[in-house]
Amino acid sequence: MEIKKGIPVSPGVVISTALVLDAEDLAVPKRHVEPSAVEAEVARLRDAVSAAIRDLSALRSSVSSQYGKEIGSIFDFHIGVLADPSFIGPIEAEIRQQQVTAAYALSTVARRFAGQFLGMQDKYLAERVKDIYDVERRVLHNLAGQEQESLAHLESDVVVIAHDLLPSQTAALDRRHVKGFATDVGGRTSHTAIVARALGIPAVVGLGNITAEVSGGDTVIIDGDRGLLIIKPDAEQLAEYQEFERKRERLEIELARLRDEPAVTLDGHAVSLQANIEFPHEIEDALKHGAEGIGLYRTEFLYLTSEKEPSEEDHYRAYVDALQRLEGRPLVIRTLDLGADKFTQARQTTPERNPFLGDRSIRMCLHDIPMFKRQLRAIMRASVAGDARLMFPMISTLMELRQAKMILKDVCEELEDEGVPFRADIPVGMMIEVPSAALMANNFAKEVNFFSIGTNDLIQYTLAVDRTNEKVAGLFCPAHPAVLMLIRDVIRHGQRNNVSVSVCGEMAGEPLYTLLLLGMGLAVFSMSAPDVPEVKKIIRSTTMAHARQVSRKVMSFDSERQVMHYLREETRKIIPEVF
Ligand code: PEP
Ligand code: MG
Repeated sequence: MEIKKGIPVSPGVVISTALVLDAEDLAVPKRHVEPSAVEAEVARLRDAVSAAIRDLSALRSSVSSQYGKEIGSIFDFHIGVLADPSFIGPIEAEIRQQQVTAAYALSTVARRFAGQFLGMQDKYLAERVKDIYDVERRVLHNLAGQEQESLAHLESDVVVIAHDLLPSQTAALDRRHVKGFATDVGGRTSHTAIVARALGIPAVVGLGNITAEVSGGDTVIIDGDRGLLIIKPDAEQLAEYQEFERKRERLEIELARLRDEPAVTLDGHAVSLQANIEFPHEIEDALKHGAEGIGLYRTEFLYLTSEKEPSEEDHYRAYVDALQRLEGRPLVIRTLDLGADKFTQARQTTPERNPFLGDRSIRMCLHDIPMFKRQLRAIMRASVAGDARLMFPMISTLMELRQAKMILKDVCEELEDEGVPFRADIPVGMMIEVPSAALMANNFAKEVNFFSIGTNDLIQYTLAVDRTNEKVAGLFCPAHPAVLMLIRDVIRHGQRNNVSVSVCGEMAGEPLYTLLLLGMGLAVFSMSAPDVPEVKKIIRSTTMAHARQVSRKVMSFDSERQVMHYLREETRKIIPEVF
């Protein structure tokens, strides 16, 4: 038995048989062709490229109809590369000038392209290298007259172990039989991770060299909650996880019954449980899990899956779609949070030295007012289609908030002049995710309708821990007393000023912190949809008086270890199956 620790990218636990994909060696030998055969080789390349475009377009349509347009549009980049003369032209030139095979010329040019992407400091762009390899592999297979290895037609249940899964491979996985996956490399911002979450299968990435350590047919356990891969578990481990799976199933059946029950404590205190989404089509799942609305819509994902900058109409359609699916329930539309680890496919900015401290989020919007206005116009136009609310991310100074509100006012005036209807009294809120904003919550509260605490960033900025760096992941801890003090004070200032406060970072969905946040007086918890039922169960099983007592006790501790230990004990008393 061996346990490997990686980065959890999609939750859940699965015990199954490993299907190991060989890290395919794409090295293509250099072979010359006769001068008289050069044009035939160019024609062969063109045929292979056309066939790859046809295959990808078909894949895009089937993935779009199964999982939604946003996931399908991942293939736009691949198709764009193949249709781009600046990619195909140099391959043809290579065949003619060097008199080499189409396969060799393709490989040489693809590697040159990939090298350019790899050289980009920006993580998101660097990860597009995988897409270039994906394109290369498809054309190579067509040149060799082979079908690309397909994971779409499997006979029995497996978990896929791969060096790296290409986005197109992940989206084409046979959901009936692929029960999870684990990879050697990868990061949270890759398309592969985004797609895994949309598919709802457990996944762990960044595990090192597991393709060399796991053999096809081995039994493995993927623990997508803790980011673990257990290779050939011993009887004890297996029994433990089987028991865990059984408990989990029982709990899930029980939790499903809570779907339509309110999140009210035994002594009658009600809170609202909402979900976070990246795409409107996720709303169905959110409602299925009992979310009362969407507390965070990360609109920047519209940019991440599209090759070109979304137009006002693209934004508008997405927001109206989301509001219609919600049928009157609230939708908190967060304005673009691009930058740092989230970049568009088209936008190639000069890499920054400290991107998380750089031109990110609201700062980037205030530097690109036409782009910001396009989004604000779309939000305001959509606001009449339901209960839309608008939220600015990463505010760190009052001036920033005022500037953003001023631009919103301009947009409203323009719409009014044009006779376009909009909801003038749309609630306007801000994220509290920078310590300066948390410390000045009392001042900010006078200028907004609601606060949403983004603990993912608040923790990274308070504790000086990069949230995407696996080397310091152990220091990233919501239970740090400094973080808890900030959260407590923001909730207090919100209450004193009649400003509703939610938490929409991952902490809101972690059962360990439910009692504490409830006791601090948090009104809205917004989380990944699958976390809603468990948090609801805890709330319905306790009293506000007890939660307050727990939070008072927690605030007397001076270390995160004490906090976590105490919360684990208290929560276990209510719902022993969780830990
Ligand atoms: C946060 O920072 O906690 C948050 C919810 O925003 P994001 O994770 O999108 O940065
Ligand atoms: Mg954030």
